[in-house]
Order: sequence, then structure tokens, then C-alpha cells
Amino acid sequence: MAELQRRGELKMLQTARYFFDQAANKLNLEEGLRELLRYPKRKLAVTFPVQLDNGSVKHVEGFRVQCHSVLGPGKGGIRYHPDTNIEEVEALAVLMNWKCAVAGLPFSGAKGGVRCNPKEMSEREIERMTRRYAAEIAPIIGPDVDIPAPDVYTGEREMAWILDTVSMHHQGEFMPGLITGKPLLLGGSLGRDTATARGGFFATLQAFERMKTKLEGSIVVIQGFGNAGWHMAHFMHDAGARVIAVNDSKGGIFNSHGIDPYKLKEYKDKAGSVVGFKDAEPIGNEELLQLKCDILVPAALEDQLTEKNASKIKAKLIVELANGPTTQEADQLLYKRGIMTIPDILANSGGVTVSYFEWVQDRYRYFWDAKKVDKRLKQFMTEAFTRVAAMSEKAKVNMRLAAYMVAIDRVATAARLRGLYA
Ligand code: NAD
Repeated sequence: MAELQRRGELKMLQTARYFFDQAANKLNLEEGLRELLRYPKRKLAVTFPVQLDNGSVKHVEGFRVQCHSVLGPGKGGIRYHPDTNIEEVEALAVLMNWKCAVAGLPFSGAKGGVRCNPKEMSEREIERMTRRYAAEIAPIIGPDVDIPAPDVYTGEREMAWILDTVSMHHQGEFMPGLITGKPLLLGGSLGRDTATARGGFFATLQAFERMKTKLEGSIVVIQGFGNAGWHMAHFMHDAGARVIAVNDSKGGIFNSHGIDPYKLKEYKDKAGSVVGFKDAEPIGNEELLQLKCDILVPAALEDQLTEKNASKIKAKLIVELANGPTTQEADQLLYKRGIMTIPDILANSGGVTVSYFEWVQDRYRYFWDAKKVDKRLKQFMTEAFTRVAAMSEKAKVNMRLAAYMVAIDRVATAARLRGLYA
């Protein structure tokens, strides 16, 4: 089991490097820069003690990985998960590097993780662990160095504890620019909770414009009904599209006439799953992915579209809200079949873009209303999509490779200007 898990993590890192190499070849990137950009700058692995409520002490592993800070300070979430390790955190840091660059943000990639099972810990244990981890990474983070954020099983609560702990290491200085995804009262931004889906929705609007198709009346299938999936479902529904199938880890539901996402959310909040929703029939995961539709939105897990099912996908457009839902083999198969994909590093970059807005607002201590956040997000997503689509046409490559090329070219140009590899 542990061996299988390890292979899975290494695959993620290999996939990130595979697309980097493909894009670097297309860009004729010089050898010195390849070496600089292919690997992160710093990998910190720490172990630290956490006192449990029963008085015993457990040693916990924590990580923070930072890419070279070519475009600006590092940016990336912190995840709490029993399976996380340094390779996974490295792969996610590298993905963040390209995501920030493709979105046009003044950040480099970073990521953090703590190997733990928060579901089996009390709130006080999680707080003690979070504060200790924050103290361990404090020497290498900061508003102009590396700015963490929430990721799997961390949220506003943990961000507030990290802010408080690091402030104590700086004579009590209030440092809202240290971290994003904070509670509003501590300098969080409006619009952060919906940002990933909203950004994906804006990118979809751009794709439809290029495909000369109207969103109104189009058919949508969504895998996953968590933060990203639920918000995407209601944005699509509000725009007049018909969401015909949705699933979660417990199962899926289908109704060819459309599912009301608001009623479904209400139901899921009570029932704990979309399964059993009365206005629909059950559907399996593979069946759902292979439904005839205009837009397929993977918003759950990695490695969902593979060489096994890529030839059976009937969507016209795939919008990757999840990280890494398509394998490199499936990517090629889908491209050959003329299915357009808005790749993860572009489609889900709305989240980090609004994190950037949060950081900017924190620096000014002046906060925007929700309308302004959404307007600017639309502008950033539209510009990012346009850059990638233009590269795709110019280099005659699919949108994924184009996104990597835009990102790597941006970082490489900045590195040359700085003489970073001299
Ligand atoms: P979440 O935990 O809120 O939701 C995940 C959803 O996927 C849940 O509904 C869960 O039941 C479902 N799921 C799990 N296993 C499944 C399976 N086998 N089949 C079908 N559904 C399954 O997470 P989220 O924040 O919505 O993130 C979803 C994806 O989007 C992840 O890949 C994440 O990395 C990516 N992402 C999220 C954000 C963000 O801001 N939320 C930003 C960037 C990327």
C-alpha cells in the first residue's frame, strides 16, 4: 500500500516535469535555465513534537518547498494529510510556480504540508501542531519572501493561528501580508471562497467565445461537489446552462432535464452526499465522465481522465478545476480528438489570483467590495486565457502545452533579466 502510494506521488512529480520538458523543448530553453527552473530552490523538512490531549507527545513531519523566487515571493497552500510527503509538496510547489506565472501574478511557486490526520485530532491538538509548524517555517516565510495559504484540510482558522504565531516572532507586529485565506476581520478578501470556480467560469466564457458557441442552453457535467464543484454548478446554472450530472465520493446523480444546484446543495448539506437527491437517478463515476455534454468539469481528484477512458469522452470542452485530473497520455488522446481542455494551471488559477488581491489589499490596509474583486478576477482570467490561446495558435500546440510555454517563457525572461543563471 505504502509502495503504491509512493509511486502515485512520484507520478505527479514526473507529470509536472514531463510538461515542463515538453514546453522547454518547444521554447528552445537554454540548458542553464532548464536546470534552474526544473528544480525548486529550497526544500525544508522538519520534525517537531506535538503534545496530545492525553499528555503524550507525537513527532510530526512538516515540509515547505519553494521554487526560485524569480517573479516574486513564493505563494502556495499548506495541506494537512496523512499521505503528504516531500515529493508531493515539491510537485505542488512546481505547479504553483507555473500557475502564478500563467495568471500573470508577481509570485513564484511554493507549497507546504504536515503529515498528520486532522480528522483524528482535537481542535487544541491541531492548534498546537499548527503553531509549532508555523514556528518551524517562520525563518523562511514572510510577506516579501513566501506567503502561505490554505489547502487540503486547512482553512481560515489555521491561517489565523499561523499569523498570530509568526507575529509573536516579530515583536507582535501585525503582518496580514504574511498569509492569505484569512478570516475577513484579520485582512481576508471578499470573493476568496468562490474565486476558483468563478475564475474557471470566466475562462469557460472565453473558450465558448472562441468556439463560437453560447453558454446558454449548453449541457454541463461536474465531477465533485465540494467548494469548486458546487460553485461552478451554480455559476453555470445562473448563466442558463443545464447541469445534468454531478457526483461526489459517495456516488453520482443524473437528470437529462437538469439538476437545480441550489436545491442539491441544500440536500447535500443535510444528507452529507448528493446520493439520494430526489429529482435524479443514480450514475456511476465512469458513466458520468463519459456522458454526452458540452462541458465536463473535473472538480475532485487527480488522474480521472486516462488512456482508458479518453477515447470515450464526449464533451466538447473540459474545464480542469481539479489539479492534475488528466494524465499525459489522455491529454494527447483528447487533443487528437479535437476536444479542447482548459488546463488546471489556467482553469483553477482564480483561487491564487484572489489570494494575490488579498495580499495587495493587506499591504494597503484598504479593502475592496465584492464587485471590484470579481471585476478584477474577470480581467485577470480573460487576459491569461487570451495569452494561452494565442500561444496555442502560434505554436500549434494544445492549451496545456501552451499554458506551460507562456508560464515558462515568463519566468525564463525574468531570470535572464536578473542574470540568475550567469
Ligand atoms: P473539496 O474537498 O471541497 O471537494 C472535493 C469534492 O470531490 C467533494 O465533493 C468530494 O466528495 C469529491 N470527491 C472525492 N472523491 C471523489 C470521487 N472518487 N469521485 C467523485 N467525487 C469525489 O475540494 P475543492 O476545494 O472543491 O477542490 C477540488 C479540486 O479542485 C482539487 O483537485 C483541488 O486541488 C482543486 N483546487 C481547488 C481550489 C480551491 O480554491 N478550492 C483551488 C485550486 C484547485
